[in-house]
Amino acid sequence: MDWHTHGVFNQFPELTGYDPLGTDPALGEALARTGAQWARPWLGGYARQLGSAETYALAEQANRHGPALHAFDTRGRRIDAVEFHPSWHALMALYRAQGLVGLPFEETRTGRWAAWAAGFYLHGQVEQGTLCPATMTQASIPLLQREPALWEQLRGKLYSRAYDPRDVPAQDKASVWLGMGMTEKQGGSDVRANTTVATPTGAGGRGGEYLLRGHKWFFSAPTSDAHLVVARTGEDGQSSSNLACFYVPRWRPDGSRNAVAVQRLKDKVGNRSNASSEVEFQDAWGLLMGEEGRGIPTIIEMATYTRLNCVAGSTAMLRQATVQALHYARQRHAFGKQLSEQPLMRAVLADLALESEAALALLMRLAEAFEKDQESNASLAQRAWKRVMTPAAKFWVCKRAVELTGEAMEVFGGNGYVEGGVMARLFREAPVNSIWEGSGNVMCLDVLRALSREPEAAQALLADLLPAAQGEPRIAAALRELQALLAAPPAELEGLGRLLAQRLVLVAQACLLRAQAPACVADAFIATRLEGGGAGRVAGAIDTRGLDVGAILARAFAG
Ligand SMILES: Cc1cc2nc3c(=O)[nH]c(=O)nc-3n(C[C@H](O)[C@H](O)[C@H](O)COP(=O)(O)OP(=O)(O)OC[C@H]3O[C@@H](n4cnc5c(N)ncnc54)[C@H](O)[C@@H]3O)c2cc1C
Repeated sequence: MDWHTHGVFNQFPELTGYDPLGTDPALGEALARTGAQWARPWLGGYARQLGSAETYALAEQANRHGPALHAFDTRGRRIDAVEFHPSWHALMALYRAQGLVGLPFEETRTGRWAAWAAGFYLHGQVEQGTLCPATMTQASIPLLQREPALWEQLRGKLYSRAYDPRDVPAQDKASVWLGMGMTEKQGGSDVRANTTVATPTGAGGRGGEYLLRGHKWFFSAPTSDAHLVVARTGEDGQSSSNLACFYVPRWRPDGSRNAVAVQRLKDKVGNRSNASSEVEFQDAWGLLMGEEGRGIPTIIEMATYTRLNCVAGSTAMLRQATVQALHYARQRHAFGKQLSEQPLMRAVLADLALESEAALALLMRLAEAFEKDQESNASLAQRAWKRVMTPAAKFWVCKRAVELTGEAMEVFGGNGYVEGGVMARLFREAPVNSIWEGSGNVMCLDVLRALSREPEAAQALLADLLPAAQGEPRIAAALRELQALLAAPPAELEGLGRLLAQRLVLVAQACLLRAQAPACVADAFIATRLEGGGAGRVAGAIDTRGLDVGAILARAFAG
């Protein structure tokens, strides 16, 4: 007997097979505004390829069939190989083929950073795991550029558009990927806790050969062609004066496999397509980059770039969450109406849309600051945008993505909370951008550090924002509040770091939208974010002055 208990209706799949650039007017306007129009035809083609059902399927497969470690070959020889699903390789090849890895360094045209940000943002809407090796490789470029011998060997392979996944020495490859290794078991944010020791094989010093002994607790993309690794050049722990940065290749110059033993792969909440590992350096061969004792400044410089990528990645997630939620709500009916016509759902969707557009405006402004900073005559304001606003944006935008990917999931009702689709992947992915490359608090402390080192940077930033406040009392009031907060005694400021970073970003986003976006977007953002305490509060963005924080915490858990 042929059973039919019901027909399936009012059910809609997640969106695939669309044009993520053509349907994003704010992105199109940003490309025109930043002088990146020249990249539009190429980005248009890339966007259509990314948005196709085929690329979404690759993303789904790469995350469903995650990497597997093969530490040994069948005869017991160490190989530290990681096997990836073919979909991972297809996605890596796709990104590489765009020339995005080296674009902002290789290209000289105005708008190069905006073009890169747009490409990264488009890719990140479809798949995020592949952006981890892409980010680390790109961020290593400015550091490698200062090491002439290494740069000479690697330049062409870093800029290459040919994906070469072979596990062979870098000199035999068409292109290379780089990773970075700082975090150890006893401490990640506090790199001074690193215990890995590097011993020179000869005289040592810049460009000299060292052997590294120790471990790293998180070491993503372990099969990269090299990692930039922080280690001590002496035994006296906890001091930053003997930390240094090393270039540690997968293969030694003599053609043997370097002694970086992959212990296991992390079983991660999200970011499943990408391999993150724990490793031991068993007298691994490395070259000193920069000077001994300059490990922390070197890594902080690299981190400024990786943090920009975190902003771009989370902006991509906010955008994808918004697009998927809108697409679904415009089709699904409940209580006699389209969900997108229900007043309360409209409030949710509008809030998502505002957050997404504000994040994009901030990303594109940061991209402009990175570009200006490449020029020798960069103004203090441009440098402040890069140095102060990047960690503030990394804190804020990544946190907003954690909350709002969950909110967008809920737009799908129960359909959002099942595995296999875009929404589950976005939700799992979002927290990692907030954690790695410096977690939320560390970002806020970094904002404070930058401001205390260069107090005039804050004033330059505020002066840069001021024109957008003309005739808009709500922005003017928010700027005054920010100014007052900046004047708080340094001892008080540390506990106010989240409040400060949040206000800084919200004011900046309001100014950018007022200058660039349609009035309906700018006015709504200002009304919902700057008035009456503002929406979108995240944990910790509270004024602790006058609160008995100790008593509250003691009562909360009397353990
Ligand atoms: C998927 C994944 C991949 C990663 N890949 C890499 C990699 O390739 N290379 C690499 O080096 N690392 C990598 N990491 C590590 C990552 O960068 C660290 O986990 C991160 O920097 C935080 O360090 P931690 O885990 O040691 O936490 P901790 O440093 O112990 O911090 C714990 C918490 O305390 C907060 N905190 C720390 N200091 C302060 C303070 N002074 N005041 C207030 N709060 C504070 C932090 O914000 C955080 O919330 C990866 C992490 C993940 C999750």
